[in-house]
Amino acid sequence: PLGYRTRPTKTLLSVEKLRKQFTTGDVAAVERVSFDLGEGEMLALLGPSGCGKTTTLRMIGGFEPPDEGRIALNGRDITHLPPEARGIGFVFQDYALFPHLSVLDNVKFGLRKLSRAQAEARAKDMLALVGLESLCTRKPHELSGGQQQRVALARTLAVAPPLVLLDEPFSNLDAAMRVETRQEVRKLLKSAGSAAILVTHDQEEAMAVADRIAVMEKGRVIQIGTPDEIYRNPVSAFVASFLGRSNILNGTASGMEVKTEFGTLPLSRAANGAVSLSVRPEQIMLEADPNGPACVVGREFRGHDQLYWVQEGERCMLVISGAGAMIDVGARVRLRICDCVVPLA
Ligand code: ATP
Repeated sequence: PLGYRTRPTKTLLSVEKLRKQFTTGDVAAVERVSFDLGEGEMLALLGPSGCGKTTTLRMIGGFEPPDEGRIALNGRDITHLPPEARGIGFVFQDYALFPHLSVLDNVKFGLRKLSRAQAEARAKDMLALVGLESLCTRKPHELSGGQQQRVALARTLAVAPPLVLLDEPFSNLDAAMRVETRQEVRKLLKSAGSAAILVTHDQEEAMAVADRIAVMEKGRVIQIGTPDEIYRNPVSAFVASFLGRSNILNGTASGMEVKTEFGTLPLSRAANGAVSLSVRPEQIMLEADPNGPACVVGREFRGHDQLYWVQEGERCMLVISGAGAMIDVGARVRLRICDCVVPLA
């Protein structure tokens, strides 16, 4: 149940052609954004700063009225309902905890339907899951930013709403805590059966926790799919370089093949005519060769592998190679592309 979903589930949320233009902006912040979210599914809205992720999330939550479009939850039109009537949980960047309540009472706040003892037990369980059981009696101002963020997560997830909106919920955590917390949150959501939309500009975070990713650019969703689909088959140079690193080449395609400066290569999907191509650094093999046409101009040691910058003529290629045999900067090499390349729009 904690694995990635490949089978379609029942639709929980349906977002249709959402549009928002702020009076101060000359272009729409969000333009024709549409997607469906299955029950219990975790979707990441991923994109650079200012691409419209937060605005999309705020419209779904009811904090920003859309200019156009429709939002349905469980088949019910909620486009014009106030936030509190939507039955959606939120964890926003500023995580607004109640300052006068203890950590434990903050988490118990949404659990008023349970008996006192049940609410107390549930709140303590949630705080244990985010590693804060020892700070139950503190007030929010006695916590670090990262601890406050975890209390906000515990408070929202305690109620197990059918849908949770998370806006950069791990931004205040240090790197190690972020990796641990995001997996805990994923487990919590999956075990409660809650769906979630996570806003992030961190591609690694999106790939690590989301069942599907919607990549946004300039107010629009330009690609939506599983992390694997998007990583392997990005539709544009923007998506290819936003999700990981990529080399962009030019070529002339004919069906499932493309002619490039590296020879004729197989394509991941059919294309014809002049195309741009994405080649991931790990799809290129690097061979030391004193007569090779290319030269290593930079290297970064990354523990499990090495990242090389390799100059061949005018072009600098990024190559990832196993940590085994290191090749020195300055060495002559030969590059071989050893996989399908991806034609871009
Ligand atoms: P970030 O990752 O930096 O939070 P984002 O992708 O979430 O960015 P939004 O916050 O949705 O982007 O902003 C989208 C665009 O709308 C930006 O150009 C922003 O300046 C603009 N915008 C957002 N909120 C408002 C507002 N209240 N009034 C005017 N313009 C706004």
